[in-house]
Amino acid sequence: MSNKRIPTKMYLQESELPTCWYNINAVMKEKHAPALNPETLKPLTAEELSEVFCEELVKQELNMTDEYIPIPEPVQEFYRMIRPSPLTRAYCLEKVLDTPAEIYYKFEGNNTSGSHKLNSAIAQAYYAKEQGLTSLTTETGAGQWGTALSMACAYYGLDLTVFMVKSSAELKPFRKAVIETYGGKVIPSPSETTKVGREILKAYPGTGGSLGCAISEATEKALETPGCRYVLGSTLDHVILHQSIIGLETKAVLEKYEIEPDLLISCVGGGSNFGGFIAPFVKDKIEGKAKYKIIGVEPASCPSMTRGKYAYDFGDTGKMTPLFKMCTLGNGFMPSTSHSGGLRYHGMNPIVSKLYHDGYIEATSVEQTKVFEAAVKFAKSEGILPAPESAHTIRVAIDEALKCKETGEKKKIVFCLTGTGYFDLTAYSAFNNGTMTDYIPTDAELEKGFATLPKVE
Ligand SMILES: *Cc1c(COP(=O)(O)O)cnc(C)c1O
Repeated sequence: MSNKRIPTKMYLQESELPTCWYNINAVMKEKHAPALNPETLKPLTAEELSEVFCEELVKQELNMTDEYIPIPEPVQEFYRMIRPSPLTRAYCLEKVLDTPAEIYYKFEGNNTSGSHKLNSAIAQAYYAKEQGLTSLTTETGAGQWGTALSMACAYYGLDLTVFMVKSSAELKPFRKAVIETYGGKVIPSPSETTKVGREILKAYPGTGGSLGCAISEATEKALETPGCRYVLGSTLDHVILHQSIIGLETKAVLEKYEIEPDLLISCVGGGSNFGGFIAPFVKDKIEGKAKYKIIGVEPASCPSMTRGKYAYDFGDTGKMTPLFKMCTLGNGFMPSTSHSGGLRYHGMNPIVSKLYHDGYIEATSVEQTKVFEAAVKFAKSEGILPAPESAHTIRVAIDEALKCKETGEKKKIVFCLTGTGYFDLTAYSAFNNGTMTDYIPTDAELEKGFATLPKVE
């Protein structure tokens, strides 16, 4: 194999596809701190979690011992329609950069929802159906999660209500149209349909809404509707578990073609694609079998790892969720509007936070205009228009490849390309006509966010 040309597109055969997800919690020498009930400050029990979430997902969330968790056959069947996603050798980008580095990317945007989020949406809808539930609620900011979940609910015949941040629903009418085509009901949030929504509207008439507010409405609706539960598209451990399908396939295909990666990169919003992508590689690192360099990329406007604190915090602005020990900018931190909605989150998944804190992974932040420069370079050379979130990863991959050009190193860089940019054309227009700006919060602004951290001791 070593003398042969590596193909541009590399696939696994159906018989080589993973049949289990990988639970990274099981291999971590020191586990991350448990989520706490904010009133008692005691670790959350399965019972408490089950009021809001599906039972099987709660079991997965709290599972710290089983390394491999079987993927139910019906979920595997759905995966076979959209997976494996290809691993591509970026020969054309390498040529444009004139780098000795080898660049590879795993593309997760080849389905109608346009991102990796469908990997978890289909699993979550399956478990809801198995439990005998009839409907789900969720919130969506940028819209990718709502789209993925509407596809999954349509597949399993579940009703879906999506509380979509009002400003986003107005900005992205086409996302709304896709969700509705799949039968999902979109309610711009804050709305008159929930108690918390009515209260917010009274206090802030004309508000464009926020993710925190949409979470509060979706949770209330789930609690008050029989046969209904709330589901989340990122930040929780079970979502990372489902996204491990990305990392498992990547590792298997790299081994098949005898490629040993040096560097693994992906963007981090709530941490789900990144956590899933790196999971089987982190296993090697923890077990002392490999020394990959692993980098998570975040926007400079919302730097929860590179400039945040490692502390207990609420997952939402409305302080309704449990407390999670994580890298956070404080639940009251308001990131400036950016075109990468999927990365605008004040916190970070607890596994990813712990790995960062313990030094297994690194993090870096990048500015929006530089991200779009990289996106355009990639689009022109590799034939894919990337999602703005994914373009954060591309920026860092390109910078690393350019460093190799200086040092002459032939590093093998592998990254996860999480989605397509078809629904983000307003962002590309802003970049093209020069109206895009960069915003980096000052230390004083970050202090305001840290001041909202709950006192836990
Ligand atoms: C949601 C999203 C992200 C960020 O979410 P994670 O949970 O951190 O993976 C990244 N890229 C795309 C395309 C997304 O839709």
